[in-house]
Amino acid sequence: MNGGEPDGDPPQGSEESENARRLLLIGPPGSGKGTVGQRLAEQYGVEHIAAGDLLRHQVETKSDIGRRAAESMQRGELVSDSLVYELVLPRILVAGKTNGYVLDGFPRTLVQAEVGRAITDSNDVAVTLAILLDAEPDVLIPRLLDRARNEDRIDDTPEVIRARLDVFNEEVEPLLDFYRELGLLVTVDASGSPEEVWVELRAILDSR
Ligand code: ADP
Repeated sequence: MNGGEPDGDPPQGSEESENARRLLLIGPPGSGKGTVGQRLAEQYGVEHIAAGDLLRHQVETKSDIGRRAAESMQRGELVSDSLVYELVLPRILVAGKTNGYVLDGFPRTLVQAEVGRAITDSNDVAVTLAILLDAEPDVLIPRLLDRARNEDRIDDTPEVIRARLDVFNEEVEPLLDFYRELGLLVTVDASGSPEEVWVELRAILDSR
């Protein structure tokens, strides 16, 4: 019967959304949220919902949302809350009702966290663990410049990188307090290699 599913598969049936993993990654640009998010999605069968990727896709396909988001993104500033809600909330509700999700890039502000929490809570699909990927700018900036050379991201120039780090630092403390007060925050040191970060994170998740 058991075909060797990975650990952490949610059980079938009505308790699914109670047991599904609903994770949130919080971390500065360059902290490895994207990589970690993909690995979590593979390992635990949850959906990776990455706000930045979804937004960039909208910009590339020149959708209505994309046109409204492009200017802020090119400056490294946040796009409007309503735009982000429109894009991510429906996906969160659907994934939360099935195998669970790992969020990357949403919520990013206290307001987004409060609105997101109210809506997901009333649907029984709220975040069950918030993971801070913690690293200092002197680790992050070289990583981001390296990525800018290797990938063609519209928002990876040195000035925009600095702007994104500043925006992150301004927004993150209230966000961390929000999840800390809910007893949902864990911190992982993100300055090591992807493999080191992954080992630390697996240990935390598998002990819960
Ligand atoms: P980074 O974490 O490096 O800023 P992301 O890929 O998460 O990269 O986001 C890229 C850009 O998309 C941000 O600079 C911002 O303009 C926009 N964005 C992403 N997530 C949000 C969000 N939750 N709220 C507002 N804007 C967002």
